[in-house]
Amino acid sequence: MESRGEKSVAGVKTFKTHQCQYCSYSTYFHYLLVRHTRTHTGERPYSCPHCPYRSSRKDYLKHHINTHASVTTE
Ligand SMILES: [Zn+2]
Ligand SMILES: [Zn+2]
Repeated sequence: MESRGEKSVAGVKTFKTHQCQYCSYSTYFHYLLVRHTRTHTGERPYSCPHCPYRSSRKDYLKHHINTHASVTTE
């Protein structure tokens, strides 16, 4: 039995991974990386027109704006 000591290092399959630019997190799925990256950037596209409140979800903002409406005095 002859062994050349060759290891198929070059033949190792490397799956394409998406690496987080903020930490060591990596995933095979791009959408998971996008979702993960939001935990770093704290992206909140919905902002309250009445105060500095920002939300990542539209329904949260809607609920928040309602709290403004309830305190307005005419
Ligand atoms: Zn990360
Ligand atoms: Zn507000």
